[in-house]
Amino acid sequence: MKNIIIFGAPGSGKGTYSDEIVARYEMGHISTGDVLRAEIKNGTELGKTAKGYIDQGQLLPDSLMIDILAKTYDALPKGKGVIFDGFPRTIAQAEALKQMLAERGDDMGVMVELIVDEDTLLKRLLNRAIEQGRADDNEETIKKRFAVYHSQTEPLAEWFQKEGIRHTFTWKGSKEQMLSEIFAFLDKQ
Ligand code: ATP
Ligand code: MG
Repeated sequence: MKNIIIFGAPGSGKGTYSDEIVARYEMGHISTGDVLRAEIKNGTELGKTAKGYIDQGQLLPDSLMIDILAKTYDALPKGKGVIFDGFPRTIAQAEALKQMLAERGDDMGVMVELIVDEDTLLKRLLNRAIEQGRADDNEETIKKRFAVYHSQTEPLAEWFQKEGIRHTFTWKGSKEQMLSEIFAFLDKQ
């Protein structure tokens, strides 16, 4: 399988669909949010830095994230394709990802964009707060994450469009339907 960039707002299902895609195509998976939460859990210096940003609903600095991404990517077994979940989130990160992959004789593959209305996103994130207890899933921080998404991350969709690899999937109320549309597309890649 080609590399896949899964893209969408907080709560759009990037992690959920990534797990399904990984199981079907036996790919590698990099979730930058999961990497950072593991660092926080382990009480590392990076974790302490990350917590400050995450609890505020802000993005970590690009230079730091690009470094983390490259290290995580290089530690994965090669040859199967990787799904990038939660990265890139800014144009600078996207440029860096493209360059990092090119330096390794690889490319970004395809971008899968998840479009979900904001009412649904909010409900999901508040529900996740109850189920998983993520510190950044409270209403105040969620609102900040949406604002950051709209100002810093959403413009990237156009960037992927220009790269010719943007593929959009819209939530119509059913996970099964969303997944079957995504699989139908990825099966052809
Ligand atoms: P979901 O996983 O439900 O789509 P999300 O996108 O808000 O929600 P994560 O991807 O887990 O959640 O990220 C959680 C937080 O980690 C972000 O709000 C941000 O502070 C930080 N983070 C994760 N990835 C990056 C990144 N590429 N650049 C900067 N900060 C990041
Ligand atoms: Mg996630």
